[in-house]
Amino acid sequence: MTREDDRTLFINGEWTSAGNGSLFDVLDPSTEAVIGRASDGGAADARAAVAAASAAFEGWANQTAYQRAAALERAHRIMLRRADELAALMTLEQGKPLRAAKNEVLYGADFLSWFAEEAKRVYGTTIPSARANQRLTVLRQPVGVVAAITPWNYPISMIARKVAPAVAAGCTVVLKPAEQTPLCAIAMFEIFEEAGFPPGVVNLITTGNPEAVGDVLLESREVRKLTFTGSTAVGTELAARAASTMKRVSLELGGHAPFLVFEDADMDHAAKGAVLAKFLNTGQACICPNRIYVHSSGYERFIEAFTQRASRLTVGAGHQDGVSIGPLIDSAATEKMERHVADARNKGARLLTGGSRVSVDGLAGTNFYAPTVLADVTPEMEIYTEETFGPVAAVIPFDNEDEAVRMANNTDYGLASYVYTTDLVRATRVSERLRFGIVGINDINPTSAAAPFGGVKNSGIGREGGAQGIDEYLDVKLVGMTV
Ligand code: ADP
Repeated sequence: MTREDDRTLFINGEWTSAGNGSLFDVLDPSTEAVIGRASDGGAADARAAVAAASAAFEGWANQTAYQRAAALERAHRIMLRRADELAALMTLEQGKPLRAAKNEVLYGADFLSWFAEEAKRVYGTTIPSARANQRLTVLRQPVGVVAAITPWNYPISMIARKVAPAVAAGCTVVLKPAEQTPLCAIAMFEIFEEAGFPPGVVNLITTGNPEAVGDVLLESREVRKLTFTGSTAVGTELAARAASTMKRVSLELGGHAPFLVFEDADMDHAAKGAVLAKFLNTGQACICPNRIYVHSSGYERFIEAFTQRASRLTVGAGHQDGVSIGPLIDSAATEKMERHVADARNKGARLLTGGSRVSVDGLAGTNFYAPTVLADVTPEMEIYTEETFGPVAAVIPFDNEDEAVRMANNTDYGLASYVYTTDLVRATRVSERLRFGIVGINDINPTSAAAPFGGVKNSGIGREGGAQGIDEYLDVKLVGMTV
């Protein structure tokens, strides 16, 4: 960290310490050693940030789209310049392998340039009126102050994915990052500072006490929009509370992605894709497959190829060469793996590889879990319905397409889904029937700053990225005029 430890709040263009003067520790999940400290912002700090964002709103909204775009373009250039440093910081603080961290930084940077462009395309419309002397015009205007709450699993890109469309639209932002990863957030706000956003346009409250800061953001009438990425449980509660001040909300919540492998798929390609998607970020992504359904004719062949590939993955600290499975974020996450595996085995699942914590030479961390494959998983098992969020894969056989689609859709979640098939007609049919916000067909990474990301049902509301992403930060205004 480049700054004084206790000045990690960014309010009205100034780095400050928490009003109560306290700090909280930040840990390296690979060693569980303290790697830094951040200011423990509280309610008074959050109120100051909301006041700054509120005061800055009109001036920022009245800048031209070209001026707002220019600030985002500057931030984009700085982010690319600092990409290696950001990646190293993320690996240290969050644990993911360095290459994955670098990919995340570049993915995050894409949102800055994408929304710099989109700022210039906030078009309105005119509507023919039934009255000859009337003109109807539709304007799209920024919603106002935005509260953004971000998670630890993608600690940089989730910030870019929210701040970029908000400021492009002309909104101002108060961001509260996850308590596990404040250092990445601080680094992002150093970039925003260097890019020259006017004071109050972007504000950061680091805190170890999310509820106290969350309460202020939710209760404030000045905050007109909540954008949240995190668990379905917390997102549901925050959205319910946001309703009392009638805030706009967008929510990116949990997932329980099905991964369908049909009899006509290339089994090796499917196994390779399933490993990449399942163990992405050590399984700690909301788009990770949670239920891998394979047609019975290719089932044994698939699980052999899948297990072989999974068991070859190296577990370790993200900065070590060749590591693709980093530590889980904390002991609660690791205990969940243990619980899911024990429950599935007790109910008859076959454990094909992994199934336990591993210790890594030279690292004190206790939250390394072996890449694990469970076959013959059934609906009675916890892992079949609960989001795993870790490196444990559940494989399930099926006999026909209708059954597979029905099982895939039989979940309260609806974020990502995956289909492996070489039959174009089947691919079309199945992608239309899946009740998910995202479908990957022979594709494990159907995400891009240029494309709308988001879910249905308990996976959330709204979309991030794409042409739709900026709409979340714009209100529609109708102007009728008699001429
Ligand atoms: P996860 O299970 O991935 O940690 P959470 O939903 O608990 O997901 O956390 C996602 C984000 O929500 C984090 O920034 C966390 O600090 C924040 N958060 C959790 N509870 C609250 C709350 N009551 N008010 C405001 N923010 C919260």
